[in-house]
Amino acid sequence: MDRSASISSQQFARAAARRHVTAWRQIGLARRIATRWRCRQAQKTPALLKRCLDATLALPLLLLLSPVLATVATLCWLTTGRVLRARTVAGRRGRPATLFEFSLPSGRGSGLLRRLGVARLPWIWHVLRGDLSWIGPRPLPIGAPRPAGFQRRSCDRPGVVCLWWIRQRANVDYDTEWAADAEYVENVSLRQDLGIAARACWVRLLHPGRRIAKPRIEVLNTPIRNVSMDEAVNELHELLLTDGPPTQVAFVNADCVNLTCRNSDYANCLRTVNWNYADGIGMKWAACLQGASVRQNVNGTDLFPRLLAALEDSGQAVYLLGGEQGVSADVARWIQRRFPGAHVAGHEHGYFDEGSEQEVIERINRSGADLLLVAMGAPRQDLWIQRVLSQLEVRVAIGVGGLFDFYSGRKQRAPQWMREMGMEWAYRLWLEPRRLWRRYLVGNAVFLARVALHTLFRKQEKQP
Ligand code: UDP
Repeated sequence: MDRSASISSQQFARAAARRHVTAWRQIGLARRIATRWRCRQAQKTPALLKRCLDATLALPLLLLLSPVLATVATLCWLTTGRVLRARTVAGRRGRPATLFEFSLPSGRGSGLLRRLGVARLPWIWHVLRGDLSWIGPRPLPIGAPRPAGFQRRSCDRPGVVCLWWIRQRANVDYDTEWAADAEYVENVSLRQDLGIAARACWVRLLHPGRRIAKPRIEVLNTPIRNVSMDEAVNELHELLLTDGPPTQVAFVNADCVNLTCRNSDYANCLRTVNWNYADGIGMKWAACLQGASVRQNVNGTDLFPRLLAALEDSGQAVYLLGGEQGVSADVARWIQRRFPGAHVAGHEHGYFDEGSEQEVIERINRSGADLLLVAMGAPRQDLWIQRVLSQLEVRVAIGVGGLFDFYSGRKQRAPQWMREMGMEWAYRLWLEPRRLWRRYLVGNAVFLARVALHTLFRKQEKQP
């Protein structure tokens, strides 16, 4: 059964490869020249320089790793009866290219070798030959669906490492692979390639790979919905369209979990919130220490524009509560500029005393808002939402921390490359060292130690 299935898939691949070659030959000469010209225009790095750098790195690496290559080749031959496996991909300018990989035995034993990328060591040879580059869009299998802009994407050689892989590994792969590829080819430069190479090494070392993720995880007794960004946006959108009592939502990061260890009210609050999302690299590491995996980094700052996009033209209105005087007004203006179809029902600052709390609640209810965003920092915002939730007539109330400061332009968010490294916290620390050194420098270490000890003791308790 398996054998016939694999034969038919091989036949399918061969037929697809034939179709691809024919299709390539049929592309008119004028179109090919036009594409090539556009590619040249777009490439800021002279292709020759990139090619030289690729080869200069590949040759010594190949020589250095030759004993390893010989050992793996022998292992493959002894266990599977063959050394290499061929794969046809869409190479440079869409031309079919054959790539070889080691034919590692299937099964548990070779799992580690696969995870270390040993199967793809022969790709170094392909880099030397010029079939691949070190950095570039992922080599697409022949017959795979072709995105719009495929021609443009294939101007560059396919790469061993791509931007999309980094984003996947760092749990920030919110958009599509094609969008990441388009971003790469639009900004081709030596600087970008060096940055991607450095980030690839960083995420390989410091970001645990993703495993099969459970739909719910618990970090130090705080329950977390383990969903992707798109799933979070969809479920919040659904909540906003459903009648019923208001729902409280929280983004839980390492600092929030540390706070729950000191503040039992906050711990109880997050324990009862059914809609906690995992925010930041700390939660990813915590899950990893427990043998679990976080689907994506679902933080408020990245979710906010996506939720607004989903709400555009739906008639749902948002109320912005929090930040210093004028901050929420600037966020409202940003929303109107970026999402003209989204409706801001009202906004006000977050520095009110208990005496004026009722007036704030009345203003929110009178505004007819469906979604309330409360940016007053943890744990204040979450405890406040929990306390007044039954009096609110909104459908969803979310604690969003310092989000308004970013979208009002008061504070700068970490650049994309830092977010891809999971180092957004370091950027915030750099901007506000006095306020945040304890939260991040001490807090992150304490958080990981707490999770490690908690996991260890729980394991011992479970043992008979
Ligand atoms: N804030 C507020 N009312 C308060 C205290 C804080 O509106 O009583 C605002 C503050 O202006 C800032 C946000 O809450 O915009 C908290 O930012 P922080 O960086 O602490 O949040 P984080 O994202 O780190 O949780």
